[in-house]
Amino acid sequence: MNSLQRKITYRLYPNAEQTLRLESALGLHQRLYNTALEERIRIYQTEKRSISFAEQCRDLTRWRKSVPALGAINAQAEQVTLKRIDLAFQAFFRRCKSGETPGFPRYKSIERFRGWGYKDHGNGWKLIPGPNDGAHGWITMQEAGGRIPIRGRSRLPGIPKTCEILHRSGRWYASVTLNVEASGIHREAGTGLAAFDWGVKTFLTIAAEDGTLTPVDNPRHLRRQLEAVRQLGRTITRKRRAAQAASGKTTGFPVSASLRRAYAQLARLYGKVARQRADFLHQTSSWLVKTFGALGTEQLNVASMVQSPAPGGKRRRGLHREILSTSPSAFLQQVRYKAEEAGTGLEEAPTRKLKPTQRCHACGVLPKEKKLLSDSRHACPHCGAQAGRDDNAALVLLHWLKLSLKFTGQELAEVLSGVRHWDGSPNAAAIQHETLAICAYAL
Ligand SMILES: [Zn+2]
Repeated sequence: MNSLQRKITYRLYPNAEQTLRLESALGLHQRLYNTALEERIRIYQTEKRSISFAEQCRDLTRWRKSVPALGAINAQAEQVTLKRIDLAFQAFFRRCKSGETPGFPRYKSIERFRGWGYKDHGNGWKLIPGPNDGAHGWITMQEAGGRIPIRGRSRLPGIPKTCEILHRSGRWYASVTLNVEASGIHREAGTGLAAFDWGVKTFLTIAAEDGTLTPVDNPRHLRRQLEAVRQLGRTITRKRRAAQAASGKTTGFPVSASLRRAYAQLARLYGKVARQRADFLHQTSSWLVKTFGALGTEQLNVASMVQSPAPGGKRRRGLHREILSTSPSAFLQQVRYKAEEAGTGLEEAPTRKLKPTQRCHACGVLPKEKKLLSDSRHACPHCGAQAGRDDNAALVLLHWLKLSLKFTGQELAEVLSGVRHWDGSPNAAAIQHETLAICAYAL
């Protein structure tokens, strides 16, 4: 049976004693991480070779015997921590190979250490679903002693597989991977065609087949909170500069209680914004899949999205950029899996070939002069068509979706290169696009 993986994050509510135990386990994992890292760096520098994950696991067996506290926590979880170093080193060597000069993976302070993980359900941890429809419930951990109440709910029943314990701004979370039966998923699909594109001013612009254009904006409360994040960031910068000036040091200066409070406040606010952002993305992606039977959008080039400056403005930095720039890829990921669950078709257009921002939605011609980021309107020099920049791009994608449902790949390539016409008229020889369930929709 086809099974899918889903991740669900629970918030943990440990009591005072459990909190102490969790903090102690966090400290042990952090020290294990740093010790194993030190060992790797030492061997690399003295013997010019890297130790394997298996060798470090053998070291671990020794360490567990000589340090009772290490021996008392879950061995598999300790291996997961070693695996993280292994992965960090693999990335380090990959970058060396490709000619970069990366620094060694870094030691982690307790503040920067996120937590630990378990490989198998039942080995060191156990999820106990609550009596009410499986929502909330408890988690047990070898390290915590007794069960810890949790809050969270999986949309679908599934079998717990792996678990990551996370410590963030003083709170504890468990991110659990569930194996879900694909047949247990009933997501409703809609009808009709629509294409969506990332807007300059809005989050999305949706062009539907009935001719409607719908801009989807970032919710207002999110924009307000991003402003609050910015203000708090400025306060922190001011306080930090004052502390640096007073002590004459740029690092290791004394951190006042009020600066510490501001850091904690920022971390909490950031967490809140990130959660609300995730809610917004989930609601929007669910709505799209539930409303339409086939969707089109452009392939995302995440690297260029992160690097390019924000449209029409200066480079966005820090938290603000982090939140906004990761959204499109997270959103597309959600649309992909929800579309798969619902049986909605999703086609991703080759952005470089199609150039939805540049191309004219009405005649399909690419203008000789490139549209600039500052051009908020589309005015076609060939056919005279006019539209908002985002509306034009969404309409081009909608047109492309219709074509791609009708033409074969070869024919579509001809349309894009101008050999065939951009009129969308059905081709007698056209072979139906077989990978797509066209959802009882007559084109
Ligand atoms: Zn035109």
